[in-house]
Amino acid sequence: GQCVAVCPTGALEEDSYIDYVWKDLVNEKKHVVVQTAPAVRVALAEEFGFEPGTISTGKLVGALKLLGFDKVFDTNFGADLTIIEEATEFKERLENDGFLPMLTSCCPGWIKFLEHQFPDLIEMPSSAKSPQQMFGAIVKSFYAQKANLDPKDITVVSIMPCLAKKYEASRKEINSSPDYKDVDYVLTTRELAKMIKEAGINFTTVPERAYDNPLGESTGAAAIFGRTGGVAEAALRTTYEWLTGKELKTVEFQALHGYESLRVAEVEINGQIIKIGVAYGLGNARKLLEAIRNKKIDLHLIEIMACPGGCVGGGGQPYHHGNFEVIKKRIDALNVIDRTKVIRKSHENPYILRLYNEYLEKPGSDKAHKLLHTHYLEREWL
Ligand code: SF4
Repeated sequence: GQCVAVCPTGALEEDSYIDYVWKDLVNEKKHVVVQTAPAVRVALAEEFGFEPGTISTGKLVGALKLLGFDKVFDTNFGADLTIIEEATEFKERLENDGFLPMLTSCCPGWIKFLEHQFPDLIEMPSSAKSPQQMFGAIVKSFYAQKANLDPKDITVVSIMPCLAKKYEASRKEINSSPDYKDVDYVLTTRELAKMIKEAGINFTTVPERAYDNPLGESTGAAAIFGRTGGVAEAALRTTYEWLTGKELKTVEFQALHGYESLRVAEVEINGQIIKIGVAYGLGNARKLLEAIRNKKIDLHLIEIMACPGGCVGGGGQPYHHGNFEVIKKRIDALNVIDRTKVIRKSHENPYILRLYNEYLEKPGSDKAHKLLHTHYLEREWL
């Protein structure tokens, strides 16, 4: 409902789909696939008494397997795919005098805010869908075909740090077919913890497992989607190499790291200074957008997240009780995941490359547009 979308920080109670998920898990006719957002793995363990910032990827996957999901995949795969489509669009806008700044579009809390409050800037967001929605669209098309399943028999469940993701999955124009939803049910990190407890699983001792393939493989760039500045940084790692044709040796853009809620960074690409705005919190988003609308600031790329510190501080995460230190630890944990990945650029993910070769043809193709892009609408409040 609307309250979910305007209240991304979680003061209002979420609609829960836990019962629906349990029902599909025991229904033999349903093939139930789950995806986990980047920020979930650095916060879930807090619900079981672990320190903030504990990385629990293996236990998260292990617990989901014990709950009975047929495949445990990763939203991070969707994040790498988002970067490919978003960087393609950014390159096109830069080279062909397109609408700038381009806005990363994966935070539905903030996109809805823009649709209501800044309809004159509706061309700003990238048309690329969010990682959650790209993932759902690929499961119900490419994966369904590979696994020889009718998309209507597949249930896609998302574990998200976010309340607004429930609303995002219900946006009519975001689904790639009128016959089914790309993402059927969205559960929050807290709701997953509740399911694990309901099932009597001991999270502390649950055996660590690895994600299933091919939709479980991801890069360091995808990991940082969950923190402020991360989506912009991931996009730049790819855009830089595509525009210069050179290898990016130092993949971390220090200017895009940091905890501040409003910052501007500059990166030189081919002698051109690319200016990037990063903000979190809707108040800061408003400030940035008003500056753009009034031509007081000139930017090429913007990343805005509704929640404090980005998705790590999302409204569906374990409560942090206003303690930003907790959020910082989750941010640092995502940076650790990034640094320990062998591949740290989305366009080098071999499974993404295969997906384009075997199915999507090339970034920005007609097929990619049909499945992986959306549009935005001017909206009234009621
Ligand atoms: Fe959801 Fe992340 Fe946006 Fe918060 S910042 S509303 S968790 S997508």
